[in-house]
Amino acid sequence: MASGLSCPTRDGRISRTGCAFCDTRGSASFHSSPPASPSGSTNIREELLCQLPSIRARFGAGKFLAYFQSYTNTYGSAAALAVIYEQALSVPGISGLCIGTRPDCLNSEVLGVLRTFSERTYVSLELGIQSFDDSTLTWLKRGHDRATSLDALKRLALFAPSVHVCVHLIFGAPTDSATTARDTALLLNRFPLKGVKLHQLMILESTELGRRWKEAPFPTLSLQEYGEHVLEFIENLSPNVYLERLCASATQKQACLAPLWSCERWAPHNYLREFLVSRGCQQGSKIQPSDLTRIPFDENEKE
Ligand code: SF4
Repeated sequence: MASGLSCPTRDGRISRTGCAFCDTRGSASFHSSPPASPSGSTNIREELLCQLPSIRARFGAGKFLAYFQSYTNTYGSAAALAVIYEQALSVPGISGLCIGTRPDCLNSEVLGVLRTFSERTYVSLELGIQSFDDSTLTWLKRGHDRATSLDALKRLALFAPSVHVCVHLIFGAPTDSATTARDTALLLNRFPLKGVKLHQLMILESTELGRRWKEAPFPTLSLQEYGEHVLEFIENLSPNVYLERLCASATQKQACLAPLWSCERWAPHNYLREFLVSRGCQQGSKIQPSDLTRIPFDENEKE
C-alpha cells in the first residue's frame, strides 16, 4: 500500500522524473495509489480495513504487517508520519509496519518517530540504497550519494536501534565494477542491519531507463551472470544478515523490456537456488573475522 507521500525525485525537490529505473507506480509490486498530497494519504485505516478481509480469506493469516512499499514513506513531517503509522496500527490484526524509504529522507525528527514506533511494535525499514557506487547512483538518477547512505545506516544504528533495517540493492548497472557485489557485502557487514533484498537491474516501459534503452540498448545481465553476482555477494555477507529476496520479477510482464527473464516469477528464483547449491554457496564463507568489525560509532554523538 502507499502512504500517499511522494519522493524527492518526483515532486521537484531533486527532480520530477523519478529514479531512472522506477515506473509511475513508485516501485510497487502490487496495486497502490499514486501520491495524494505532501501530508500523505488521508485514510490508511479505511484502505486496510477494505483490503484485509480478502487477504485473510486467501492466506488464513491472523496477524499482518502494513507494508508501505510505494514511493518514499518517510518523506513527510514527523507529525504527518505519526498519523499515517498510527492509522495503520489502529486496524485490528496489524501487528507492525514495513516502511519503504530512501537514505536521504531520514532526518532527526523522522528517526525520532521511527524510534518511538519501534519501541512499541515491530518496524522494518526497507532502505533503498540500491548501490554504494556514486557512478551507479548517478546513472540511476537516485539523487543521493554513497556518503548519504553510509550516514543513514550509522544514524539508524545510533538513534533508532530497534528498527529492523533491510537494505535494497540493485546489481547489473553497466556502471557496476567487477567487485561491486563483494565490496557491497563487505561494507554492509560493518553495520548492524538485519536483512537484504536483492534486485536485478530491470528495464521497464515508462521509465527513464526504458527511454534510454530504446534509444541505444545497453547490456543487461543474463540470469547466470546475475547469479554470479548473487553468489559473490552471499559468500561475502555476514551470516547474521538474512536474505529476504534473491531477485525481483516484473509485475506487469508487458512492461518489461529487459532482461526478459524478469518476466517470470518463480523460474529465476528456482534457478538461482539451484545455481547457488551447485556452486556450494555458504553465506559468509569468504569473509575473515576482521571483515565483521563494526564501524566505530560515537555513542555520545547527538542528533
Ligand atoms: S525508486 Fe523509490 S525514491 Fe525513486 S522514484 Fe521510485 S519510489 Fe521514488
